[in-house]
Amino acid sequence: MGSAGRRDRDRHRRRPHLLRATECAGIENFLKDVVADTGKPTNVYSVSAQYTDGTGHAAYSDTFGASVIDEHPYPTSGTCPPYESFGGTEFTSCITDEKLAAEVNTVIGEEGWPHGLGAVYYMVLPPEVGSCFGPEPETEPEPACFDEEFCAYHSFTESPQTVYANISYANADVFGCGVGEYPNGNVVDDTLSALSHEANEAVTDPLLNAWFDSEGLENADECRNTPEGEDFGPPLGGGAGTLFNQEIGTRHYYLQREWSNDTEDCEQRVDPAQPAIADPGEVTISQSASFSSSGTVPGAGGISSYHWDFGDGGTSSAPNPSHTYTSTGTFPVTLTVTDDGGFTFSTEREVTVLSPAQVPEATSTPATGVTDTTATLNGIVNPMGRKTTYRFEYGLTTAYGNSTSPASAGAGSSPVAVSGGVAGLVPSTVYHFRISATNSGGTEEGADQVFTTTASAPSLPTTLSTRSLVAGTAVARGVAFVKAGSARLKLTCQGGGPCKGAVVLIPLTRHIGAGMKRLPIGRTKFSIPAGVSAVVSIKLSSDGKVLLRAAPRAGLKVKLTGAGIAPRTLLLKRP
Ligand SMILES: [Zn+2]
Repeated sequence: MGSAGRRDRDRHRRRPHLLRATECAGIENFLKDVVADTGKPTNVYSVSAQYTDGTGHAAYSDTFGASVIDEHPYPTSGTCPPYESFGGTEFTSCITDEKLAAEVNTVIGEEGWPHGLGAVYYMVLPPEVGSCFGPEPETEPEPACFDEEFCAYHSFTESPQTVYANISYANADVFGCGVGEYPNGNVVDDTLSALSHEANEAVTDPLLNAWFDSEGLENADECRNTPEGEDFGPPLGGGAGTLFNQEIGTRHYYLQREWSNDTEDCEQRVDPAQPAIADPGEVTISQSASFSSSGTVPGAGGISSYHWDFGDGGTSSAPNPSHTYTSTGTFPVTLTVTDDGGFTFSTEREVTVLSPAQVPEATSTPATGVTDTTATLNGIVNPMGRKTTYRFEYGLTTAYGNSTSPASAGAGSSPVAVSGGVAGLVPSTVYHFRISATNSGGTEEGADQVFTTTASAPSLPTTLSTRSLVAGTAVARGVAFVKAGSARLKLTCQGGGPCKGAVVLIPLTRHIGAGMKRLPIGRTKFSIPAGVSAVVSIKLSSDGKVLLRAAPRAGLKVKLTGAGIAPRTLLLKRP
């Protein structure tokens, strides 16, 4: 039994540690999701595309090659001893970079995979397998090991030329290299941020001689262990332990941000440009139409080029081009702008190309609703398919001289009834009017029409607005009957307070004996509680009595005025 146990332990030590199938699937899913979104500005891989070398952009242009589980035994000599990291993770095997690089090239050879700068190889070490540099007496007196000095790295071999990365397994060690967020419920989620980090650096600095800052930091390093502790930026969703800040392919991931020289900050994705196509107005066949990209908002990567597709086969690379359509119809116009990372952002606008403009049809029809001072003028307009406005011209002769404000008759192709109200007319007067309709094809006027305003309506007010009343204003009825030489006037106290004041009656008809002056013919004081109606008696002067006797049967018009009373016209009547 004891010997069997020892044999088991031995076998355990010799056999390669392997990732579980679900963990391998999690890594492959991630790489395939990154490929599925290739060229899109929507995830963190897009941030690195702004960097350039002599051959152009570090384009986000990925394909997935293949994966293999390397079951070769670990090297038995010349490698690093087992160790325990600060976080307490035990690494029972340890591989030096030298051995790891050699193993990557062995597998590439066996699989017939390509060398050169077109491929990056990610060696994901299983749990319990550490890796160290050194110790080397001159440069590295103490070994520098995974989960202590580094979490992953990328490097290359010169001959054969192989770009590779050591993605050690973070092993849910949130005190070391782990992140502690598992948006896919897979323990390997912890390792993907480090993989993304090395992927971006392997693209921008594959031979360790390209993009790095004055401190030797590469673009992903700028956003790892940031002073603000904001490596990941705001999450897009998820809860504690399942946070995600990336939607890639069909899945969610929690990946550190990447450095952007465009924004001089760590970014989760490129800031998109927002192209806009300004309204080209009316577009007519065989006539040059002007298109404008004004309104376009550039993203952080600016706009390096414009591309217009006019939907009829025509294109342009000008920001504000002209285009002439050779047929009518509706065309989808697309504007695509490209930023400094090569990412494109598009917008579309439908443009209707019209046949040559025709003047609208306009017919004047009889006026309706005619009163002494107002009327409704009518007409019929056919816009003939163009944006058309109409107005009515009116006046005392066919020279008109007045006009209603322009209004829209739409842009249809059939007749529409239109009208316009006019006011301030003179009673009992013949008026002329006609309709006038205008579109880009020209202006058309309808024939002359006439109408006659009615005679003036009685001007005695029957109601009085109380809107402007102040507290304690007396309001009088419009008629007062005279009895025994006194006008008996009904006053109502409105406005929320007791009404106190004086009534004064001034004739509107001039009394001959009074010369040019209009003298009051009666006055009295009043005091009425709030909300109460009371009759006040106003003794008429002798002049007032004379005027009343001379007045027509309808009565004598007087102006009612005074303190604390709403002014109005009053009709004094004999009983
Ligand atoms: Zn790095």
